[in-house]
Amino acid sequence: MADKPYEVGPIFSQGEGKSLGVRVTKGCNWNRCIFCPAYKGTDFEVRPLDDVLKDVDVAADYEGDRFESAFLQDADPLIAGTQHLLAVMDRVKQRFPSITRFLSYGRSHTLQRLGQDELAELAAAGYYKVARGVESGYDPLLRYIHKGATARIHIAAGQKVKEAGIVLSDCVMPGLGGDLELEVGKPTWLYHVRETARVINEVNPDILRLRTLIPVPGTILGERYRAGLFNRLSDPEIVREIRLLFESLDGITSNIDCNIVFNVLPELNGQMPEDKEKLLAGIDKYLAMSEEEQGAFRIGVVLSNRGGNIPPFFRLEQFKGTRKEKSLRIMRKLQRQGIKPEDYLMQVLT
Ligand code: SF4
Repeated sequence: MADKPYEVGPIFSQGEGKSLGVRVTKGCNWNRCIFCPAYKGTDFEVRPLDDVLKDVDVAADYEGDRFESAFLQDADPLIAGTQHLLAVMDRVKQRFPSITRFLSYGRSHTLQRLGQDELAELAAAGYYKVARGVESGYDPLLRYIHKGATARIHIAAGQKVKEAGIVLSDCVMPGLGGDLELEVGKPTWLYHVRETARVINEVNPDILRLRTLIPVPGTILGERYRAGLFNRLSDPEIVREIRLLFESLDGITSNIDCNIVFNVLPELNGQMPEDKEKLLAGIDKYLAMSEEEQGAFRIGVVLSNRGGNIPPFFRLEQFKGTRKEKSLRIMRKLQRQGIKPEDYLMQVLT
């Protein structure tokens, strides 16, 4: 962020924008996931400890003690090593007495290599939450997207984090398999759901976030999509995939978080297991709508939350009156122009 006198990475995990950003590493040490546009122009670097500590001092003078948490950046700061992180956290706590919680992104591959004692040490020092991209539990799909992790690694890493008492936020990606068939006779979307549910059931993350795939132009997957080598599922197909995922979640107590406009139904939020039936009922309400209404709902949600000329909304029950009329009008206009609503939305969202 150019307007700060200390270095801050460009990305905060969802809901952590009010944390102090502490850039321990730059970029992503992996940087090969084919759907991911983040950090593509950034050379990976573990920033020298002295530089990070100096930044903390500058940030303290500049910002004052006004934060409750610090977000350690960028994509996988745990790769810097436990002692490196502990030294940074120590300085942050000295200079920002109000900060008691540290959060970061973390890759499963890195987490599973940490010793249980190291995770416990980090937790004792205030490392509170890690957010990781699981994306899928289906190994052929994890290979296809170059995730650099397997279901086994995801499970081992997740269980270690939980055992250390650190809050685990796992993100999975509906629609990631498109209409691929990576193994003969096995529709990828179906095995993506089944194996993802298996991983989540074994780990029981505190938070389960859903973030539907958008094949972002400029990424390898985005270019495959443009070249017709990867086909997206339709919105209703993705919603059916999510329904099967929710149905397959068993014995977990995760908080479900779909609250991002990338998702067809950002209102699917609740606590497992007690809200499972409510979530499934919300999905069924969407699936019962006509194709035109489903398209218009999606357009309305995206445009109304991106400054469009529609009062902001994201719930099905709000899809009525002016919101519905305006959304349907835009939908029909796109259809007359021969523009697929999903292609239009991709442009808006990317
Ligand atoms: S998804 Fe995460 S691990 Fe993969 S390239 Fe992007 S930032 Fe790196």
